[in-house]
Amino acid sequence: MPDSVPQPVDRQLPTEESGELIALVRDIAQREIAPRAAEEEESGHFPRKLFSLLSSSGLLGLPYAGEHGGGDQPYEVYLQVLEELAAARLTVGLGVSVHSLACHALAGYGSEEQRAKWLPDMLGGGLLGAYCLSEPSSGSDAASLRTRAVRDGEDWIITGTKAWITHGGVADFCTVLARTGEEGARGITAFLVPGDAPGLEAALPEKKMGMKGSPTAQLHFDGVRVPDARRLGEEGQGFAIALSALDSGRLGIAACAVGVAQAALDEALGYATGRLQFGRPVADFQGLRFMLADMATRIEAGRALYLSAARLRDAGRPFSRQAAMAKLFCTDAAMSVTIDAVQVLGGYGYTADFPVERYMREAKALQIVEGTNQIQRMVIARHLAGPESR
Ligand SMILES: Cc1cc2nc3c(=O)[nH]c(=O)nc-3n(C[C@H](O)[C@H](O)[C@H](O)COP(=O)(O)OP(=O)(O)OC[C@H]3O[C@@H](n4cnc5c(N)ncnc54)[C@H](O)[C@@H]3O)c2cc1C
Repeated sequence: MPDSVPQPVDRQLPTEESGELIALVRDIAQREIAPRAAEEEESGHFPRKLFSLLSSSGLLGLPYAGEHGGGDQPYEVYLQVLEELAAARLTVGLGVSVHSLACHALAGYGSEEQRAKWLPDMLGGGLLGAYCLSEPSSGSDAASLRTRAVRDGEDWIITGTKAWITHGGVADFCTVLARTGEEGARGITAFLVPGDAPGLEAALPEKKMGMKGSPTAQLHFDGVRVPDARRLGEEGQGFAIALSALDSGRLGIAACAVGVAQAALDEALGYATGRLQFGRPVADFQGLRFMLADMATRIEAGRALYLSAARLRDAGRPFSRQAAMAKLFCTDAAMSVTIDAVQVLGGYGYTADFPVERYMREAKALQIVEGTNQIQRMVIARHLAGPESR
């Protein structure tokens, strides 16, 4: 059964142009993404051509500078685009967010020469990116990563295994964090590695609970040679670069979470107004009305929180604490809203005939990726104790 038609969202957008952008994205989402979402998620099909379409429509580089092929959009607009894409299909919203994360190191820390050479193809030339930080033995404790890059003349030789890599095996480029020096955060350096570099192999994708259309795979680096010209930032600066990318990326995850929650609410509302029990639509019963009211309130609160963090970022102010709060709150909200949506549909909610069980499985991933919600609490608490919070 097709997913329900999304309800209009009362968005606050900074310009008329951004309203037109959101309308364009909704149109693409309804025509190109939503109709195939359920079937392709069931079969595990990754919609590579769709990402090419998004790239040629300018939707893979929205928050980046126009001079290198980006869309020059404020983060508050980019995130609402992500929300619309994720509401149609999380594999697509999250994919765009991860791609953007993979572009961050080059856009923010690359030299002018590096940016001019590679960014245009990454932002609008059809390429798709992966962000390679996690490893089999280092997830939350990412600074203990073991993948090593060793200098060999003008080149670096990278050896090790990255784990859980979104777009692993399909990405055209990989932003890779590897150890070039001492143990800990200060011995890590960032590299831009072509997806087809000799010695780089992807394992079979993980068999996940949800987002089966989004390939998540280990990447094995077996003596992958990259020239020093592909080092991004200074030697030893990689972990700071990785964290700065994650501050922005977490806002993307928050927006995706609100999109999934909104889709679940739309579906639940549509069902509850049409389903009759005791001679009345079940939406008439206060038990369900209050549940729907709570779901809608969590969604609005989440949207407001990610937008307020995005506006700080757009104003050039610190936003790390607020990004962690938005990621924590929005993904927990998506989990509870999607669980409630299954409840609103009763037995039908527990079947694959309706999309709410898929939304529930998808929401779970968002509480884990880009720093689990336990790690977000650690980040928030650290800020509360430090000078940034005052
Ligand atoms: C679908 C999916 C896509 C992903 N995509 C990417 C990607 O593109 N690139 C990438 O680099 N990674 C990616 N990841 C990896 C993801 O970032 C990690 O799974 C995450 O950071 C957690 O690491 P871990 O799985 O090793 O769990 P662990 O770090 O082993 O944590 C296990 C449990 O312990 C808790 N825990 C750990 N330390 C603490 C602490 N100090 N205090 C309290 N609790 C703690 C965690 O919250 C968790 O509940 C992806 C993961 C998934 C599931």
